[in-house]
Amino acid sequence: MPWGITDTPRPYRDELHFGYFGRLQTYWLTPTVNDLARHLRGGTKGHASSDLLGLCDDLVRSLAEAGIDVVQLMWMHTLLPYYLSFQSSDERARVVADLESGNLTGLHFRMGIGSSSVKHPQVFRYCPACWRDDQLQLGEVYIRRLFQLPGVLLCPTHEEPLCDTTVLYRPLASRAYWNFTGADATSNCGFASASARELELARLLALDARRLLLQGAAVHTRAEYLAADYHSALQHLGLASRNIHPVALESAFLDFYPMPFLQKLGLGFEPRREGNWLRCFVRKSDKRSHPLQHLLFRRFVEFHLGSDCWEWMAAERWPCLSPMRPHPGHEAVTVRCLHFDASRDAWNGIFSCDCGFRYSGGGCGYPAVERMQEHRVIAHSPHLQQRVVEMAEAGSEAGDIAQQLKLHRKTVQKWLSQGGKQIPRKANGALMVEREAWLALVKNNPQLTLKQLRIQAPALYSKLYAHDAAWLKSVPLPRQPYRPQVHKVEWHGRDQTLVRQVSELAEEIRRRVPAVRVTTSRIGRELGVLNLFRKRLGNLPGVANVLANCVESVAAFQIRRLEIAFQKSHSGTSRQELLRAAGLRPRKTKPEVFRVLDRIYQGEAS
Ligand SMILES: [Zn+2]
Ligand SMILES: [Zn+2]
Repeated sequence: MPWGITDTPRPYRDELHFGYFGRLQTYWLTPTVNDLARHLRGGTKGHASSDLLGLCDDLVRSLAEAGIDVVQLMWMHTLLPYYLSFQSSDERARVVADLESGNLTGLHFRMGIGSSSVKHPQVFRYCPACWRDDQLQLGEVYIRRLFQLPGVLLCPTHEEPLCDTTVLYRPLASRAYWNFTGADATSNCGFASASARELELARLLALDARRLLLQGAAVHTRAEYLAADYHSALQHLGLASRNIHPVALESAFLDFYPMPFLQKLGLGFEPRREGNWLRCFVRKSDKRSHPLQHLLFRRFVEFHLGSDCWEWMAAERWPCLSPMRPHPGHEAVTVRCLHFDASRDAWNGIFSCDCGFRYSGGGCGYPAVERMQEHRVIAHSPHLQQRVVEMAEAGSEAGDIAQQLKLHRKTVQKWLSQGGKQIPRKANGALMVEREAWLALVKNNPQLTLKQLRIQAPALYSKLYAHDAAWLKSVPLPRQPYRPQVHKVEWHGRDQTLVRQVSELAEEIRRRVPAVRVTTSRIGRELGVLNLFRKRLGNLPGVANVLANCVESVAAFQIRRLEIAFQKSHSGTSRQELLRAAGLRPRKTKPEVFRVLDRIYQGEAS
């Protein structure tokens, strides 16, 4: 402990530890930052974190000597409560354990702060009005926690936009704490509200962020159920049923927060794009989201449902409207679908209970349990059906049962007539006999399919299907090897058709001007059956024969061109001129062609 002043000043209300330690430098008469670090942490190693406080032993000891409660300092003078505000208790315990061991490495990423698209301001910020007040009342200025939070754009007390200081905000790389004075202020202001709406939203966000900071070490009571709470909030807003309706959610969200405002917070997104932060936020409950995202979403929900909505949503359960009392087993109703019709201000949904009861229901105004009305029963619980049969066996009349259980008389009668049929069948061993018979049938006819087996024993099949369908479907049938079946007759017919088409087309190709070569691929392609020619020519003997006769070799095609040229030529044409007229180049011309050429000119000569 340095000589001189013995009572260390306490931090001011909401003062950030970073500035507080800097302020202590003057009180403790430590002339340099290294002296302060040595005094605080017992050495000059390590960093002065801007937002969190690692509680190494020396720090705890030196602060305890100065009479400062270090745990209180951690919760009320660092950004820790903000970062942990929506974390589960396990995760909180892990982070606090790391801080207590003095290890800050990777903490920001583990808390979802470092990896978030929300970026921290790059310099410390202050409210000019607050600093003027401080200077008047305290004779000095200090740096507040609230103004360092991302998403806090103005001072909620003075409604003045925050301004930058010259001091860099570096969570993990600051060398020394900083004693803030009026000289650090700049007049740079990062936020200019485009409208009264933006100003109002910025004020709300600042107030919400302050609420998070002030909760200190208190744990969010529903931190484990946030995903479920958010989902049911969206259901109440008509923006989700069993799944979230992302497009509707995005448009409602953008109605509340204008896109330019979201962009100022670093949370702009592309609507209708899979993977934008809003969709990830509501779908991926395991992903750690930034507290600012929680704040925006919760403010959006509270605006529509009222600020007490979280409490009543946590307390309420969708009711099982089954007339059966007492309820058999646990009553757990899930929403199958839920739609809100804004034009009628009414909603409609399908709900099913674990007991088997399923109904459609809804109401007017926003959905809440008190306004729930049953519209239609989709399925009654099997327990209720059982109760009806029991009461009938005990001697009650159908009418009495219906009145007692608040059922329609016809429903009761229907169940009783069904029950009367079913009970003896289940009771006797007839079913086992039928199963045996079916297994024998399958075993004796391994080549038959299910359809063929049904034709073999229609009565047995329908009995089993009516009373034991699940078992019937579970009986494995011997696997039939797959045999593609194309009848010979069909190939024959196809062959004949193709023979005619191929020979006609070959003739047509031969007549074309300029001359083109008749090939299998040309004919196949033009008929649209090239693959058939390549792979299935064995099944088409006629076609193969025709093709062998009409297709030209290269030499034959060159001879044909030579003949055409010769017929068009006049007497006295030289060999070279004739070749050129036929479009033949000497180097690529086949020997057979030269032999024909020789014969032409010999004939002329003789
Ligand atoms: Zn202020
Ligand atoms: Zn139920």
